[in-house]
Amino acid sequence: MQIDQLPDAIAALPAEERALADRLFRVVVTEGAIVPPPEMAPWLERTFGSVEATLRQRIVRVTNRWTFEGATFNPLRSRRPGSGTTQAAPATPPAELRERIERSSGDDFCDPEHRTPADTFGRISGRHVITAANVAKADGWHSVGVFDRHDPLAIDDDLVADILATGGEWASRAHASDADARYFFLLWNCLWRAGASLVHGHIQMTLSHSMAHARVELLRAAAQRYSQETGGDYFADLAAVHTALGLAVGDGKVEWFASLTPVKEREIVLFAPTYQDGILEPAELGTLAEPLAETLRVAQEQMGVFAFNASVYGPPLATSSANNADDDWRGFPLVARFVDRGNPLAPTSDIAALELYGSSVIASDPFDVVRTLQAAIQAGDDNEDDDSL
Ligand SMILES: [Zn+2]
Repeated sequence: MQIDQLPDAIAALPAEERALADRLFRVVVTEGAIVPPPEMAPWLERTFGSVEATLRQRIVRVTNRWTFEGATFNPLRSRRPGSGTTQAAPATPPAELRERIERSSGDDFCDPEHRTPADTFGRISGRHVITAANVAKADGWHSVGVFDRHDPLAIDDDLVADILATGGEWASRAHASDADARYFFLLWNCLWRAGASLVHGHIQMTLSHSMAHARVELLRAAAQRYSQETGGDYFADLAAVHTALGLAVGDGKVEWFASLTPVKEREIVLFAPTYQDGILEPAELGTLAEPLAETLRVAQEQMGVFAFNASVYGPPLATSSANNADDDWRGFPLVARFVDRGNPLAPTSDIAALELYGSSVIASDPFDVVRTLQAAIQAGDDNEDDDSL
């Protein structure tokens, strides 16, 4: 299965899933043609395998009818020179990347207690993460979780679990100091290519007043409109369509799938139900630890992804006020999203005018992404079985 067969795959779904897919997505397939001069033939062959492959190209555009997230897939683009997409291969960081990471050692985050400010309530010290107030804040509450290791690629299960635990504890403390700050957002920019200004491993967190960040509100509003107009549960239906198409992984506790409308390369999405409908309990962020850690491990080891963004968010924290109007957030799950930002050493940006103002242009195939993820998880399970013998 490849993304250019998506219309057939949807048509072949059982009636109920097919109706959901049509309700959620609009899929437009189009063909583009080129007429290259003979002089270009050697280069086309070298770059794309054959001249024929380039003459007629199938382009698949998937648009989410509710959120208007949209992706345009053309697998040929991944072979384009300088596309910056990482290759699906067992990978260790290239020597130049390794060297640049090592050369940046000794930065401010290597000594957070003396070289970063604390929040007004102090610092949260986890097993591997210590918090610091962001010097130039993007929100009233905006802090950093600094890892106990410089290397931003030295990520393991225990670190991911501690990021979520420490992030949740930070949210609780900030909320205790400022009851109106309720909208939690965790962001992870790994390496400069993904927007990190310091190489040293770190995440950031905000806790906002009045409303969540704009794109979270957009998602909430879209899910609400979906529910009002169709009677369906947006998040459950979105996961069900991805599952029906073979794009999901996991054990059913957490919805876990490769997105059909990735914001950029290889987007992987996680949904977990909250303990209490419409409320985020900071301690429950840990629900996402295992699948998120597994996603990051497979991305780095099997897909060669080193520069990435991830985010974690959910409904607002509880308020003591009796008449809070949080019906708006009913059904909103705990969400994590992960995206590959391509080759960290590439000289061009992976995000340009089309991404900012149009639709995302995607070279990676979500069906390939999920196959890699499924295979790695299966191999991991088999190893565990072996160990227990
Ligand atoms: Zn450092």
